[in-house]
Amino acid sequence: MGIFSRFFNKRTNQQAPIKNTVPEEKKTIRKAFGVYCHAHHNTAGKALCPKCNALLMTVMTKIQRCPYGITKPLCHICDTPCFGQKQTLEFRKIMKGSQKRMFFRHPIMFVKQKMKEWGFAYMKQKQGQKK
Ligand SMILES: [Zn+2]
Repeated sequence: MGIFSRFFNKRTNQQAPIKNTVPEEKKTIRKAFGVYCHAHHNTAGKALCPKCNALLMTVMTKIQRCPYGITKPLCHICDTPCFGQKQTLEFRKIMKGSQKRMFFRHPIMFVKQKMKEWGFAYMKQKQGQKK
């Protein structure tokens, strides 16, 4: 019995949202910045324009110091984003503006990101119901 329940717990733990999602999110953000900047600012390959590059650097630094730790929500749907108002707006614009291109160029990444967004929306709704 004990072994079974332990195995079961292990399984369910792996599926719980509590895991370090930062590396994956960073990768997704980098890609999103890439497709957005290439399309809107005439850049190519791994290069970003200075403005996008600066914003990306800020995001990458801040994401590492997220006050939510490993249970952090996605930055672009966070209630208390830490990039400052102007940069948060710019960041959200890029994340939103790159969505369509992300869907065509990195469909798996796009779907994963969407699933997470829905997951957080669902969690939020649940928390709202408890109150
Ligand atoms: Zn750019």
